[in-house]
Amino acid sequence: MTAPYPWLVMPWTQLVRAWRQSRLGHAHLLHGRAGFGKRAFARAFAGLLLCEATTDDRACGTCRGCTLFAAGNHPDFLPVAPLEEGKALTIDQIRELGGYYALRPHYRDLKITVIEAADSMNRAAGNALLKLLEEPPAGAIMLLIADRPSQLLPTIRSRCQQTVLDHGNAADIVEWLAAQDTSTPRDALLERLARAAGSPLFAQRLAEPAVSGAIDGLVNALGGVAVGKLSPLAAAARCADLPLDLLLDQVLRLCHETLLLKAGAPVPLAEYGRKPAPGLQRLADTVHSRAVGEFIQKAQDVKRLRLGPVTLREADLAAWLWFDWQAGTAATRRPSQR
Ligand SMILES: [Zn+2]
Repeated sequence: MTAPYPWLVMPWTQLVRAWRQSRLGHAHLLHGRAGFGKRAFARAFAGLLLCEATTDDRACGTCRGCTLFAAGNHPDFLPVAPLEEGKALTIDQIRELGGYYALRPHYRDLKITVIEAADSMNRAAGNALLKLLEEPPAGAIMLLIADRPSQLLPTIRSRCQQTVLDHGNAADIVEWLAAQDTSTPRDALLERLARAAGSPLFAQRLAEPAVSGAIDGLVNALGGVAVGKLSPLAAAARCADLPLDLLLDQVLRLCHETLLLKAGAPVPLAEYGRKPAPGLQRLADTVHSRAVGEFIQKAQDVKRLRLGPVTLREADLAAWLWFDWQAGTAATRRPSQR
């Protein structure tokens, strides 16, 4: 396999070259916004490193290394990911990684891990990882993945080479989306990409009717709750098909755009030729800037809670979000609107 997605070809080529020229460090941080394929990139790159026959930028697919890797049985590869989507990595998982690295490589001079959601580690887990990074075992290649690298311990960051994987040429991305979805015209795909804030994999999810329908209804739901015509629970029910991450991203984006409209500032929609969501101006006319600003903070708190050690159901977090929006907008509603 080569780069898993067309917009990742350039960083892929650079990383492969670094590897061939023995410039690849033992720790490498792949970071950037979600939805650009960091995990697929890291896994594919691990597969290339473990291929025993490759001479270029792709794994052969047939050697012992490739066969074991494809079957998920390669003894010199250990992926580490949160036990549940959206949860934090635990210190036990990092200790297990220590045990893995205590053994010598089975086949060649390489022992690889991909650590997903590295930015979700708490301090104790981070310190345990730091020990490994400070005294890297022979042959270790650790590929860390983080959407928010600023959440990592600075001492971890400084020990990693870094590659940003969160951009791509919009035309290339639309080509890729078109190959997945041949029945949708290009301008609609461009619009979809814009709604996903440029993220190709989120744009792909927006092709799911339940997801796109829920997003279409978000402005109305925000407006309905803000004027007291829709209950927070009813709003949450309307968005039940939206994964929480996507809901948070979309709500935050709409809130930022609402603040810009209220301030009379241009909303940065032109990049992908997108129009403002219908009803956004009405929402901006309805709500108080302070309520929107405070709500943005709360939505970011929900994002953090989601990574915390306490298990909270996605549906409960989503409901909280709507209750917060109701409380904030009700507190700042003008008397004439009550
Ligand atoms: Zn191979």
